[in-house]
Amino acid sequence: MKFLSTRNSAARYSAVQAILQGISPDGGLFVPETFPTLDYRALLPLSYAERAAKVLAAFIDDIPEENLLSMARTAYARFGAPLKDGILELYHGPTLAFKDMALQILPHLMRASCRAVGETREILILTATSGDTGKAALEGFAGQSGTRVIVFYPDGGVSEAQKLQMVTQEGDNVRVVAVEGNFDDAQTGVKRIFASDTVRERLNARGIVLSSANSINLGRLLPQIAYYFSAYADSVLQGVIAPGEPLNVCVPTGNFGNILAAAYARRMGLPLGKLICASNRNHILTDFIRTGVYDRRREFYTTSSPSMDILISSNLERMLFELAGRDDAHVREWMRALRENGVYALDGSALRTLQDEFFGGWASEGATEAAIAQTFREKGRVIDPHTAVAISVLADYRTQTGDGRPCVVVSTASPYKFGRAVYRALGGDVAALDDFACCEAIAALVGESVPQSILDLPHKPILHTAKCAPQDMERVVLHE
Ligand SMILES: *Cc1c(COP(=O)(O)O)cnc(C)c1O
Repeated sequence: MKFLSTRNSAARYSAVQAILQGISPDGGLFVPETFPTLDYRALLPLSYAERAAKVLAAFIDDIPEENLLSMARTAYARFGAPLKDGILELYHGPTLAFKDMALQILPHLMRASCRAVGETREILILTATSGDTGKAALEGFAGQSGTRVIVFYPDGGVSEAQKLQMVTQEGDNVRVVAVEGNFDDAQTGVKRIFASDTVRERLNARGIVLSSANSINLGRLLPQIAYYFSAYADSVLQGVIAPGEPLNVCVPTGNFGNILAAAYARRMGLPLGKLICASNRNHILTDFIRTGVYDRRREFYTTSSPSMDILISSNLERMLFELAGRDDAHVREWMRALRENGVYALDGSALRTLQDEFFGGWASEGATEAAIAQTFREKGRVIDPHTAVAISVLADYRTQTGDGRPCVVVSTASPYKFGRAVYRALGGDVAALDDFACCEAIAALVGESVPQSILDLPHKPILHTAKCAPQDMERVVLHE
């Protein structure tokens, strides 16, 4: 199995090369040369770790399958992806968000990849985060020999718990830096550093090589395919669908990574129905799916679902590659138009293909709050704002299309990461409370306890206070 670049389909890379490099030298993203098939029926009796290893082995042939299995067993020893009442809970990892599904196994994949290609330089992982990737990357890589991590997060653009999770991170191989800008500024800065030959050469002279823990990295994407297979298998086991029956999925989306993994699962033969792409007030993807025009020349909003406050959805490039019939020239042209003019448009046939596969919808801040309140009222469940965006969009989808087919809603974070927004939505008076008091109040409402990792946060020393302008990110990296 080889991988090629969305901007150069002639080049060929092995899986381990793609995982180590993160992004292709031409600026494109790595995509599989063909999609391997995998029969979900073989996964029915397996544990989550075993299912994940099967998915990884379908793509990665330069790491032995038994090694992939032992990595998956280590990564998913304490959490998996339980499906409860149609909600796929992906937030039981150490940082309480779905990013752990990939970032708990990525360090293992990176180490194995280094061994496989004989890489002996130190790996410097650069990460831009909209709130959750940063902590998940820190948690995965802190204290791992041979790697360093620098996380850039948007100053003022993440929740209090998200920020504290990052700035209290221990480990002498990690740095956390606030960027004076939004997530797109941070992500663009990281991409610019990756594309800079000067930075590469100067780091290389010090025995350091760059890689990425963002969802542009193939090593993030592949583990995410596994939970769609797992959700389908569990839907069959729970009798929600008959074997082979199409299953819809509704996914809260920002960088288009989570939902892209569903599109990949379908191409591997998983019988998925509609992929419902749920956005918040930054609904550039909804507009794109409805009109075929991707136009980033719009206002950026900070919302209660900050991990989806994104206007440049990097992983969409992988979908564009499929929509273009895998024609790299088309992708280069669209990406050039986006860079230079801030906009590109699909032609009619690519748009129809996109709309066949995806439905796009978005939830306002009010609709998001209403979904949190309604889910609590009707089911006694407390959900986080990202999950609430998906719940709200699914209701709209059903009303608009009449499609009542079973649907799995992907739940991406614990409500305790967003205590203030959640407690407010539940009707709580948050004015006099800090975020931790809000968490206690939610826990009292549902009769459970606040996760220990959240309770610990206010007592931990702040270890990272650095701040920089977007144009200074390169300097931060070179000081390393
Ligand atoms: C990252 C994130 C998302 C969006 O995932 P993408 O892969 O960027 O589409 C949704 N919810 C939460 C809680 C997240 O952390």
